[in-house]
Amino acid sequence: MTDILTLNAGSSSLKFGLFELDNPGAEPVAQILGEIDRIGNGPHMRARSAAGAVLSDARLSSEDAADHACALERVLELIARARPGAAIDAVGHRIVHGGPDHAVPVRLTPEVLDALARLEPLAPLHQPHNLAGVRAALAAFPQAVQVACFDTAFHRHHPWVNDTFGLPRAYYDKGVRRYGFHGLSYDYIAGRLTQIAPHLHAGRVIVAHLGNGASMCGMIGGRSIASSMGFSALDGLPMGTRCGQLDPGVVLYLMQHEGMGADEIADLLYRRSGLLGMSGLSHDMRELEAAGTDPANQAIGYFVFRIRRELGGLSAALGGLDALVFCGGIGENSVLIRQKVCEGMGWIGMELDELRNRRGETVISTDLSRVRVLVIPTDEEIVIARAARDMLGQIG
Ligand code: AMP
Repeated sequence: MTDILTLNAGSSSLKFGLFELDNPGAEPVAQILGEIDRIGNGPHMRARSAAGAVLSDARLSSEDAADHACALERVLELIARARPGAAIDAVGHRIVHGGPDHAVPVRLTPEVLDALARLEPLAPLHQPHNLAGVRAALAAFPQAVQVACFDTAFHRHHPWVNDTFGLPRAYYDKGVRRYGFHGLSYDYIAGRLTQIAPHLHAGRVIVAHLGNGASMCGMIGGRSIASSMGFSALDGLPMGTRCGQLDPGVVLYLMQHEGMGADEIADLLYRRSGLLGMSGLSHDMRELEAAGTDPANQAIGYFVFRIRRELGGLSAALGGLDALVFCGGIGENSVLIRQKVCEGMGWIGMELDELRNRRGETVISTDLSRVRVLVIPTDEEIVIARAARDMLGQIG
């Protein structure tokens, strides 16, 4: 029996999963899934077993989870308690940025870690935290195989026109490119489509990953052709607290006329914009749907409008559309957002079945709809666990 730990370290959170592998070729099976959030500032640990039993739902003292290394210690204590004898042979890490070169997961060596640290300027709000998680895990499991799984990797085959900006070539060569993100989620959905609807997997599919972070990806034959996110995780759709697509002239205006510096602008665009900024109420779609106030409805309206624009643009990039897949917390759960996105989309061949949508069935389009609309819960953790399994297999 082999145990695999998956880690997904955010700025103030550490998501984790413990998976068991029966034999080298088997599917990893989740045993424990959990998260410590608010690391260093009133941390809270939640974890449940695969069967749904609550293993932890408790506040920790700030010293107990002062940083990612401390948080990982708490995770290991929980695993030791819940599954005595678990021996971690491999650790899979979600890493937001793999740069231009990484199109597949890679084994983490000191050299790879140095190279990934050099990418920090490309994702200053995510990459340093991801790598803090890696360093903590390398210290805790020096013998284990450690694997980096990149959010950008799935999009590395984009054609030039979807990989570049209209800037002088030197910036492209320096790495100023449209990387695209949420690749682990898209990879999972592409895999699920081969099981649920292989004919759709082979065709032209748009996946809308709608959560606190949100993006859309156009695929043909399970490969990413274009994505709504670009150089950073700010571009494309508005998100919980991120602005989404923005005229760069706005940034110039903020600098030149509002006297804002880079840190202040980053705070505005990453943490104070999106659904939260527009509604003045909340980043959380459930709260906005319940509020029913004008600003909340306008924020929802803008979110939906941008999804529909992106749907049209990506459909053109794909040369037509065979299926739309919703995933992420909003995509999987919000009947309202799915309905609003699909409303009046008959021109593209899409017709929603209201009852199927309300029930949250896997296929929510009508039988006559030429474009199939699906809801597929995503699972980034299993993608990381599989990559760790494959790496274990490769190195024997
Ligand atoms: P995620 O980042 O994928 O966990 O998604 C978080 C988002 O999903 C938040 O905006 C939640 O409000 C939203 N969400 C979760 N459940 C629902 C629901 N039943 N209806 C509407 N939004 C939901």
